[in-house]
Amino acid sequence: TPTILWFRRDLRLSDHPAWDAALRRGGPVIPVFLRDEGVKMLRTAPAWRLGLGAGALAETLEAKGSRLILRSGPAREALEALIEETGAGAVYWMRAYDPVSVERDRGVKEALKARGLDAQSFAGHLMFEPWSVETKTGGFYKVFTPFWRAVKDREVDTPLGTPGDLAPPGRWPESEALEDWALGAGMRRGAEVVRPYVTLGESAAQSRLGAFMASKVEEYGDARDIPSVDGTSNLSENLSLGEITPRQCWHAGLRALDEGKAGAQTFLQELVWREFGYHLMWHTPRLLYDNWREEWDAFPWNEDRRRKEVIAWTRGRTGIPFVDAAMREMYVTGRMHNRGRMIVASYLCKHLMCHWKIGMEWFEDHLIDWDPASNSLGWQWSAGSGPDATPYFRVFNPETQLDRFDKDRTYVNRWIAEGQDSPPQEARSYFHAIPERWAMAPDDAYPDPIVDAREGRKRALEAYENRDF
Ligand code: FAD
Repeated sequence: TPTILWFRRDLRLSDHPAWDAALRRGGPVIPVFLRDEGVKMLRTAPAWRLGLGAGALAETLEAKGSRLILRSGPAREALEALIEETGAGAVYWMRAYDPVSVERDRGVKEALKARGLDAQSFAGHLMFEPWSVETKTGGFYKVFTPFWRAVKDREVDTPLGTPGDLAPPGRWPESEALEDWALGAGMRRGAEVVRPYVTLGESAAQSRLGAFMASKVEEYGDARDIPSVDGTSNLSENLSLGEITPRQCWHAGLRALDEGKAGAQTFLQELVWREFGYHLMWHTPRLLYDNWREEWDAFPWNEDRRRKEVIAWTRGRTGIPFVDAAMREMYVTGRMHNRGRMIVASYLCKHLMCHWKIGMEWFEDHLIDWDPASNSLGWQWSAGSGPDATPYFRVFNPETQLDRFDKDRTYVNRWIAEGQDSPPQEARSYFHAIPERWAMAPDDAYPDPIVDAREGRKRALEAYENRDF
């Protein structure tokens, strides 16, 4: 009987344990992608990027004589309908770890098993299953460094290869059309703005990894902190949708380490930060929704999204160049440098005393590398409410950060047109991308800070000192 291969955030064929198992099981394989409860919960940019990824996967499959069947509906019903239509005897998929997917998958597995089907999930989105890393007392890790120590010397399986041509079923089931789904419709800026910055699909992701290892990893340790330099791998976009696997990156990192490339160790550590986020999300799903440290519920967060400071932050008009440059970079490219992410998050949560959820959701609406665990961990880390967080009283000073990480202002000049006679194309592209009603123009005067850096810091620290926890 055929095997249904249910694709989710694993949009590749290489190093795909569920594929591998399906091929070993024998018989035809029916690849399926569902517009289900997991897809429906996505905000605009991640949904749009997922749609592009699914389209690319469909093309890869077609080149191998296969197809990607698209269906809508709650996963269980959609799969049961397909089983009826195709006579499939097995459904295989790659595991997910966020609470919505965990609950969905548990329900699907139980229902399919009750019908006598072979329903199996496989590991691969992570290198270390969240429950497999335990402290000495049997708990989970809440601090990165001991987590890193616990996993760094573990054996990580060698990645699997890419399957050859795939056996099609005798008759293909009907498929919906990806265009009809209009995933990500309603994105604040048009898809055409962000599209040039997308690196799509598994073979592009492999090239990205190769290019990073060939020319960037050596300098990565320092270059990764300088936002004007393209010094990082940019693989978050592809890792988030499984266009590449962490163990493919890990093994490439190990090879670079063997070759004595200086930045390789730091790269491996960053991959483990990703694992750490998933570890925490799986053990404490509230990481996604609530202050991870519950005492922060008592903090006087400002939760009004329509406050003028929040609006200035979202539009890159706070008058703080590092913050504004980073917010504009994300608006246009769907990405933001890690240094920028830390600075804008600190500014929103501390200088503006806004709830981290406001920022987290704005990111979620604009990032093409959105990842549930890394985004929430990044926000709660920045706000001080999260595990292993930077303490609230450590307030990033955006001016000092500029002196340290963008001394010659290459980055801020790249993204902020105001005040420049002939601004670069990136800075101008922002103004083409924003809606007219934002009433911003490149020849406006650059605004004064909406909150003075020193004043904002003082206010945040006072609130912190007067907190009742
Ligand atoms: P590289 O420096 O090349 O690192 C390699 C890989 O390691 C990355 O692709 C990523 O998978 C992982 N990694 C690196 N840094 C981190 C980190 N701090 N936390 C978790 N994993 C990390 N990352 C996302 O993938 N999606 C998000 O939605 C996201 N939101 C963030 C929000 C905030 C407020 C902050 C502070 C950080 C966020 N990050 C997020 C983490 C980090 O900024 C990005 O992973 C990184 O900038 C991606 O660029 P890169 O692929 O070139 O990373």
